[in-house]
Order: sequence, then C-alpha cells, then structure tokens
Amino acid sequence: MCDGVVRKRSVQELKTKKLAKAYCIENGKHFQLKDYDPADTAHWHSKEHADEALQRDVARMAELQDKLYAQDRWSLLLIFQAMDAAGKDGAVKHVMSGVNPEGCQVYSFKAPSETELQHDFLWRTTCDLPERGHIGIFNRSYYEEVLVVRVHPEVLKGQKIPPALVTKDIWDQRFEDIRNFETHMAHNGTVIRKFFLHLSKKEQKARFLARLDQPEKNWKFSAADVHEREYWDDYQKAYEEMIQNTATKDAPWYVVPADNKWFTRLVISAAVVEALEDMDLCYPKIDGEKRKQLDAAKKALLKK
Ligand code: ATP
Ligand code: MG
Repeated sequence: MCDGVVRKRSVQELKTKKLAKAYCIENGKHFQLKDYDPADTAHWHSKEHADEALQRDVARMAELQDKLYAQDRWSLLLIFQAMDAAGKDGAVKHVMSGVNPEGCQVYSFKAPSETELQHDFLWRTTCDLPERGHIGIFNRSYYEEVLVVRVHPEVLKGQKIPPALVTKDIWDQRFEDIRNFETHMAHNGTVIRKFFLHLSKKEQKARFLARLDQPEKNWKFSAADVHEREYWDDYQKAYEEMIQNTATKDAPWYVVPADNKWFTRLVISAAVVEALEDMDLCYPKIDGEKRKQLDAAKKALLKK
C-alpha cells in the first residue's frame, strides 16, 4: 500500500505468487523431505515454457531492486544451501542476472578460517549481512553449523567451544539461536528468504559424471564432493531437521526441486519477486524544498 494506494496484482504476479507459495515452508512442524519430489516441475513442461516467465520475473526484480535501493530502508538476504552439484552457483547467476550489481553482494562461505574459529558460529556471516537498500546472497551460510558440522562430529571437536558446552542439547540450542537471530534481523528490516535446492541422489551422480566426462566441466569436479556423497542419508536427515526447526514466518525455507535447473531458477525468481513485492517498496517522496531545487536546476540547464 505504498503511498496509500491499494495496488491490484497482475495475472503474472498472482501466478508467480502461487508458484513460490507451493514450495514455501513457514512452519516446519510437520515437514518431511519425502513429501517433496526433486524432479517436480509443477505444470511447466519444458525449459522453453518456463523461460518466458523467468525473464518476466527477472525484469520485475530489476524494477523492484531499483526502488529497494532508492528507498534505502529494507534489505533482503537470500540464503542458499544444498548438496554439491545442486546448482547453487548457476541459480544465483541466472536469477540475479537483471539486478544492478551495485546493490547486490554475493558471499560464499567455505570451511572457517583460524580467525573465524576464534568466534561464535554466527560471527563471520554477520559481518557480511546486506546493508539497507541492498540484496545480500549467502552461498552456504551459518546453516553449515547444523549440516556439515552435524554430519561430521569431528568438525565440532575441531572448533574451540568449551567442552562443557558441547552437550546433547547443542543442536537444539543452535536451532534456537538461529531462530532468534533471524527474528532479530526481521525486526530490524532485513527480509530473509532461504532456499534448499532439493536434488536427487541419482541426478547428483549424473552431474558428477558430466563433470568427469566433459572437458569444460572438469574444473568443477572435486573428489571431496564424491566423498561427501557417502554421507547422503545423514545430510538428508540434517536438512530435514534444519527445516523442521528453522522454518518460520519471518524467515521461511523454500524447498526447491533441483533436478531440473530451469525449474529451480523459476521457483527462486518467483520467491524473490514475491519477497520484494511484499515490502511494498516506493521511491522516496520529494518534499517541497527538494522540488524547488529540482525545478531551479532544470531551469538553469535549459537556459544554457
Ligand atoms: P562449489 O563446489 O560450487 O565451488 P561449494 O560451496 O561446494 O561451491 P567448496 O569449496 O566445494 O564450495 O566447499 C565448501 C566446503 O566448506 C563445503 O564442504 C562446506 O560444507 C564447507 N563449510 C562451509 N561452512 C563450514 C563450516 N561452518 N564448518 C565446516 N565446513 C564448512
Ligand atoms: Mg563443492
């Protein structure tokens, strides 16, 4: 209701909203990963069919980002988590292709450095949160703490947490801390949307094989990724519990089918557009004084 005007949603906007809603979890109480099919493409039957809608969403995103930046009040944080080869990088590249790079930063989080290990698990990502008016993208995030660290308990031992604090309650505490942190961010104007790219084990294998077989993809291959695949079931359980415990209205999870990259991108772009639409963004109002300045500047320019 920006400027007090009730805006009617277009047919395209309603379609986008519906698509985003279908994969959105705001309350994880009854969430089960098995209810979501990684190969789902809803009623879209081909990349060509989806591309037109994706382009419309990308264009809409660019318009909305311009207002987000100009208004300089809200910020948007997009978090991406997934198994290797699920397409995080490609999704970020395609979905954000239309936005102004000045107002958007991407951060990738790898295994923590010595300095980062000197701090709590929320510290390093906090330093990279988006400024007001900006879109921040986290390619992996503080959620690694309840994923890779949980799947590999030896990583937890390598951290410098006082041993007395490492109890059976540690994961519930982590979930609670994350929920509280995200609520705090929401209360301060950062809208958070989280994407779990849900890939099937079969499709991951096919993508790893393509990385081995196609010379232009060889550079993407990592033996460590194949090793991590051996923990597939543990990861799926960790993802499920992560979503059950951290999907909230303030910071929902989108469980995005990831076996078809074109569909993954469509769902993400729909969710991002929806998040921006819901902020009800508008350009800053020009007051009387500013109007006078603009008019005077125009007059002066036209004179010359
Ligand atoms: P890509 O393979 O597409 O380049 P990536 O995100 O998989 O991207 P990698 O360098 O392959 O990047 O992997 C980063 C690794 O860092 C992952 O295995 C991830 O689990 C690990 N990692 C990230 N955060 C943490 C953390 N807090 N503690 C331990 N390991 C972490
Ligand atoms: Mg990797």
